[in-house]
Amino acid sequence: MEKIYLDHAATTYVDKDVLTEMMPYFTEVFGNGSSQHFYGRDALKAIDEAREKVAKAIGCKSSEIYFTSGGSESDNMAIKGYALAHKDKGNHIITSVIEHPAVIQTCKKLEKYGFEVTYLKVDKEGFVSLKDIEDAITDKTILISIMTANNEIGTIEPIAQIGELAKKHGIAFHTDAVQAVGNIPIDVKAMNVDMLSLSAHKFYGPKGVGVLYKKNGLKIQRFLDGGEQERNLRASTLNTPGIVGCGAAIEKAVKDMEKNNEKIQAIRNHFVQRVINEIPHIYYNGAKDPSLRLAGNANFSFVGIEGEGILFHLDLAGVAVSSGSACSSGSLEPSYVLLSIGVPMEVAHGSIRFSFGKINTLEQADYVADVLVKTVEKLRAMSPIYDEMVSKNY
Ligand SMILES: *Cc1c(COP(=O)(O)O)cnc(C)c1O
Repeated sequence: MEKIYLDHAATTYVDKDVLTEMMPYFTEVFGNGSSQHFYGRDALKAIDEAREKVAKAIGCKSSEIYFTSGGSESDNMAIKGYALAHKDKGNHIITSVIEHPAVIQTCKKLEKYGFEVTYLKVDKEGFVSLKDIEDAITDKTILISIMTANNEIGTIEPIAQIGELAKKHGIAFHTDAVQAVGNIPIDVKAMNVDMLSLSAHKFYGPKGVGVLYKKNGLKIQRFLDGGEQERNLRASTLNTPGIVGCGAAIEKAVKDMEKNNEKIQAIRNHFVQRVINEIPHIYYNGAKDPSLRLAGNANFSFVGIEGEGILFHLDLAGVAVSSGSACSSGSLEPSYVLLSIGVPMEVAHGSIRFSFGKINTLEQADYVADVLVKTVEKLRAMSPIYDEMVSKNY
């Protein structure tokens, strides 16, 4: 049975060219980038080159790039680091209800330390409103953190306008761009971004490597104490192979972005059209305008059935997707992102995220659509609530 991977928003495989570039840094060039001898210098040279590549890909200086252990660490470092360094200026932070847990839980932690956080609502397609941001700003507001693109529904936020607003009010602006980097063009200067988080494993690089972009001159408190790595802002011996992989992956992702997106978007659109045409009583979640949505993302709710049931049948048929439910304390909670765009609780339980990537083909999309149509039919025939939900116009 052919295996079909439609969960690229969760993680991607490492591109073969990227792996080839990484390999020597596990064995021959194994030095510690901080060492004074030639082993260290060779490692440092590779790290510096990777830093240049990341900087070039997002439009900043290499001195503004800090390597971390992933997107989650970058989000923590930016938000906690900025908040704690500027707490005498104010204690108010603005973010949104649809952020990744790495941002939401970081903000929740800061609330325990006396910060006040506004979690902005979003509209039915997942967009944050500029007016809501402006209305939320007080003289205590020090930081705004809004994601560039959402991991569940693919909605791309108006980051440049939010950045402009933040700048006008003298407030720092962080964006979690983990889903966006490699998929849409990023230019931190044009976007008026002060801090940006990204993660290599979302664009065909290795897991466990992330980046925080921090504008030069912006003060944050250091978070991981120890050695003086990363201009004395983050301790720990640098992950040379991972960093080399991050640089290689971002360079390739940016170079191939247009070509990949064109292909991925065509496959995604074909799949979405088939699902909409062939399966009744569904919700297509997220931005309707494809130019404001990540090319690979499709998210549906199927009335009257459970996402886990669909996922199980697709899994048996060799198709890997995500059900968007987070298993918490033994009970399956529907996605908070879907609830916050107004999908009713009963319907949100029946949701699946399909995230296409550069290896997927049109034939695979057709196969998945075929399996999905049959699966939904079968599950609905057994569902004790489907007919009632349909009659209630869900
Ligand atoms: C994957 C993801 C993260 C976390 O990145 P890790 O490298 O897995 O820690 C953060 N934010 C978003 C939007 C993500 O998609």
